[in-house]
Amino acid sequence: MKYQADKNGYFGVYGGAFIPELLYPNVEELKAHFTEAKEDEKFLSAFRHLLRDYVGRPTPLYFAPSLSLRYGANVYLKREDLNHTGAHKINNTIGQVLLAQRMGKSEIIAETGAGQHGVATATVCAMTGLRCKVFMGEKDMARQAPNVARMKMLGAEVLPAITGSKTLKDATNEAIRYWINNPDSYYIIGSVVGPHPYPEMVAYFQSVISEEMKKQLLEKTGFENPDMVIACVGGGSNAAGAFYHYLDEPVELIIAEAAGKGVNSGKSAATSVLGSPGVLHGSKTLLMQTKDGQVIEPYSISAGLDYPGIGPQHAHLIESNRAKVFAITDDEALDAALILSKTEGIIPALESAHALAVLEKIKFSGQTVVINLSGRGDKDLETYMNYL
Ligand SMILES: *Cc1c(COP(=O)(O)O)cnc(C)c1O
Repeated sequence: MKYQADKNGYFGVYGGAFIPELLYPNVEELKAHFTEAKEDEKFLSAFRHLLRDYVGRPTPLYFAPSLSLRYGANVYLKREDLNHTGAHKINNTIGQVLLAQRMGKSEIIAETGAGQHGVATATVCAMTGLRCKVFMGEKDMARQAPNVARMKMLGAEVLPAITGSKTLKDATNEAIRYWINNPDSYYIIGSVVGPHPYPEMVAYFQSVISEEMKKQLLEKTGFENPDMVIACVGGGSNAAGAFYHYLDEPVELIIAEAAGKGVNSGKSAATSVLGSPGVLHGSKTLLMQTKDGQVIEPYSISAGLDYPGIGPQHAHLIESNRAKVFAITDDEALDAALILSKTEGIIPALESAHALAVLEKIKFSGQTVVINLSGRGDKDLETYMNYL
């Protein structure tokens, strides 16, 4: 079985580029430049340089003694929470901003839901001096005021999407409309979603995660491969990076998705269970939709997992049984966050807490497990305080 994209951007039956004809030139231009850039040693060395000196990579691979004892496994945490801006998203925005510069673009656009991708984009725009417009649903702007403030402080313009539900999908529509009318801007997508080549490209920029895991695990244990890698999935970029160099290895790949209040509660984002094939944000994938193809509003306590679809590569990994999925409820994630905080002294992002909660669901007998700790919990303090 092949798990990487074919030349048309298909992972099995999922992926492709379902876009308005007006966007064809933009997407073709991007594809041509990305194909060149990833073979260009100068581009790659600029990328590696910034990952090291600006982001702070390599991030540590930490052997977690208390979790290991508690669950009867050798548990390692890949510390993406220690990256500049507090999560893995910056790996991707650095890669794409360098590509935008290489393409001679002077303006970056992005859409954001909770604001995390908006902040990661505004950050790299400030660093490179490129103009930055972030589209964000009006309702999300009110809910995520601190991230709006961060983006503004970083010099970005935040544009409210005032149509529809005034949330992420409306912001995405606005960004696409702007891109059609301003083909000289560069559109940074924040996860392994969107039309080809985005899912492949974002996974490539995040693949540094598993590249480092292999080296670090070899140093620590004498083996490159753990028995299992666990990551949470919203769109799927941190998981795609954590799985990348293990896809063709005998390593179990485990996805934690957000069950919200419970898979059958009507308040959930468990796409692998509730989703069916359809087209979302320009690619064919699994998404939560009504019989008539209307997108169903997802729910999760964690803003980063509150997404109605899943990247096409993950849809393929799940359907071909290469990856196994656990649906984790809000309460299970909150419990896991408290366990990590109290026993290892690390406050995780709510998203990452979903991956940690998988430890409760498996009976271990000494396996080596790597959990991708995608982000830190500062942004979630208010939610945690309500739960304590
Ligand atoms: C955005 C985010 C996620 C979800 O996005 P993916 O593309 O699925 O990785 C997970 N963890 C953190 C900390 C995030 O900020």
